[in-house]
Amino acid sequence: MSQSTVEAIGRVAIVGAGPGDVDLLTLKAVKCIQAADVIFYDALVSEDIKALFPTDVLCIYVGKRKGRHAIPQEGINQALVDQAQLGLNVCRLKGGDPFIFGRGGEEALALRDAGVPVEVVPGVSAANGCSAYAGIPLTHRGITQGCTFVTAHSRNSETGAEADSSINWPALAASGNTLVFYMGLSRTERISAELQRGGLAGDTPVAIVERGGTAQQRVMTGELGSLTQLAQDNRAQAPALIIVGQVVRLHHELSQVLQSAQSLPQQMSA
Ligand code: SAH
Repeated sequence: MSQSTVEAIGRVAIVGAGPGDVDLLTLKAVKCIQAADVIFYDALVSEDIKALFPTDVLCIYVGKRKGRHAIPQEGINQALVDQAQLGLNVCRLKGGDPFIFGRGGEEALALRDAGVPVEVVPGVSAANGCSAYAGIPLTHRGITQGCTFVTAHSRNSETGAEADSSINWPALAASGNTLVFYMGLSRTERISAELQRGGLAGDTPVAIVERGGTAQQRVMTGELGSLTQLAQDNRAQAPALIIVGQVVRLHHELSQVLQSAQSLPQQMSA
């Protein structure tokens, strides 16, 4: 047990664990894991990273099972507060980056409201990790000047409400940016149809990166017009990221030369 257990109140570090490769953890993330009295972790935290958890530390899984949270978000917030109020050092470990589709902001605000000291440790988000390991630069001079991260998540897992009605599809299609869809695998039909309706050509290059940045990484490339087919033919599984844009064309060349891409197994192309 660390020194913090004798203090009146502990602190919470909301820590990004990156996309899975243990070597992509930041030093600060490792220090937070090692200094923790209790670790709350999500489904996307990889086995290799879990192997770093100290054996004498309480480790609590709070991820999703079959699309439902093991514990609702309010319950997680309360558990973080409760543990900190016991004087414990809490490490709240999340896949990727806590502030990118990770609800890290919600948890930080709840802790602030309860008067618990909180810090956020950034992590390599799936978009960064997957694109680098797949050899797909998200921006590339002469091809695209920007990139946009979008959640294609269709429903709020707790309320069941539609969450993607606010996506401005025509603006996304017209932006000229590389588009990176998180949680998009069950929404390939909509992504394909809406972006084409917004003016993107059916032959716009797309990539699906499954379990990016892990030893099981698969990269599937094809065209926007047949995105659903690409996913189905390859039996793509979550977690997967969908990248849409001309930069995907660089995958074939770059995955040959990048060490990070080479050290991973299959690279598939449609
Ligand atoms: N905070 C996380 C994202 C959580 S949302 C981050 O910054 O990366 C969960 C979604 O992230 C998944 O549905 C998937 O689209 C994407 N994702 C997370 N890890 C991934 C991985 N290793 N490979 C591919 N996609 C991943």
